Amino acid sequence: MSAPLFPLFADLQGRRVLVVGGGPVAERKTEALLHAGARPRVGSPELSPRLRAWHEEGRIEWITGRFDAHWLSGAWLVIAATDDATVNRAVAAVAEARHVFANIVDDGELSSFQVPAIVERGPLQVAISSGGGAPMLARHLRRQLETLLDDSWASLADLFTRQRRRIRQRFPQTAERRRFFEKLLAGPLPRLYRQQLHTQAEQHFQAMLDEHVPSTRGGSVAVVGAGPGDAGLLTLNALRAMNEADVILHDRLVSEDVLRLGRRDATYIEVGKSATGQSTRQDDIHALMLEHARAGKRVVRLKGGDPFVFGRGGEEIEYLRAHGIPYEVVPGITAALACAAYAGIPLTHREHAQSVKLVTAHCKDSFDTLDWQALAQERQTLAVYMGVAGLEGLRDRLIAHGRAPSTPFALIENGSRRDQRVVNGSLADLPETARFHQVRSPALLILGEVAALADTLHWFGQPPIGAATPTHSRNLPTPTLQAA
Ligand code: SAH
Repeated sequence: MSAPLFPLFADLQGRRVLVVGGGPVAERKTEALLHAGARPRVGSPELSPRLRAWHEEGRIEWITGRFDAHWLSGAWLVIAATDDATVNRAVAAVAEARHVFANIVDDGELSSFQVPAIVERGPLQVAISSGGGAPMLARHLRRQLETLLDDSWASLADLFTRQRRRIRQRFPQTAERRRFFEKLLAGPLPRLYRQQLHTQAEQHFQAMLDEHVPSTRGGSVAVVGAGPGDAGLLTLNALRAMNEADVILHDRLVSEDVLRLGRRDATYIEVGKSATGQSTRQDDIHALMLEHARAGKRVVRLKGGDPFVFGRGGEEIEYLRAHGIPYEVVPGITAALACAAYAGIPLTHREHAQSVKLVTAHCKDSFDTLDWQALAQERQTLAVYMGVAGLEGLRDRLIAHGRAPSTPFALIENGSRRDQRVVNGSLADLPETARFHQVRSPALLILGEVAALADTLHWFGQPPIGAATPTHSRNLPTPTLQAA
């Protein structure tokens, strides 16, 4: 085993670096060198168009011809990026003899330094190295870090760099300074930057520096959409919020696959709503959010789909605002969009629909307040959030207001999940077909011409069932007969 590499960040500002080669790899390396303020000297018989442009702009020096030892004069580093093994070896040998560090692209053995994979957030850089042995692994890790570190890191690094001197003056002792930074980072500062509230962030920093902020504050709530179930449909912001959470208050609708991605040490509390006593439950949820945020915790209120689509997210942030708790909202993919996509139903296919309506109707009372005239219009798609109760009333009212009984529907049960089922049919037979196939919650109804496209465009899970059911027939076989 060779010894591990010694990691270092080199200051190349104004320093000459030799790049041997004029192709795409040399171009990438040169670009990185220019980014670091170096003065690249590119040695190659030919230059790529961009390298040529940089040369014409006077940003790089160009030496033509075959590699020669004198190219290295005055160089602090050299990068060989040619596809000619003989040239690469020659560069490595000359560099070694002159005590100049050399990187031979894709040749860890010949190289005396490695260029790490980088994640950059303003002045903050994370460099990853596998010692040259497993660059793919380093790149994989880099991608993971890219998703983990949001833009607030750049603002934080920038602020700390600008205020470095003042912080040192205020807290000359290292231990004090560390406590100050820990308090800052555990508090609202990162969130303020995420919310693009730069002025407030600076003010908060100022107050912290002057010790005008009581130290117990800092709790906040992120109201986060968890999407319909497939964990791949989470947003990066949702993932980050779940990774930073102390407490996760989640609906029953949030899938196991999603919950698994949350922070392990977080406290998970299911606040699923039961059919009875909904409003009390909502009050309990409010009380829980308040209690934990007031205790200084980072709370994630995790909701199925999108928090603002039939999710009572609005009431929750009104409540938080009224109680002075800072909050942020992370949208999620709502059931209508996810179910449509996963069933192969283009909601507004231009040949069939000009608009789409998101509708909910949970009980008879809410049924009566709906504008059935408008809902029964042609050339529109309805996405109905309601589970499976009330389909009869829905069918009868839509037909009574003029929607054609032959209008296709698709019921999507467990949309985007492993056990997704799509049931197809015509409006006339909607409740019977649902009953026959025992469609269960969560299920979303898509009604309109586009629903029929699931038959040909489906791509996920099992193909739609029920398409062969004879329409306009109320004499469907009973489930027991079917099961036999
Ligand atoms: N805020 C959620 C909706 C909450 S209302 C969102 O934006 O998706 C609950 C209703 O959403 C369910 O009764 C069902 O109609 C629908 N729903 C949610 N997730 C679903 C899923 N994975 N598959 C089918 N329907 C779903």
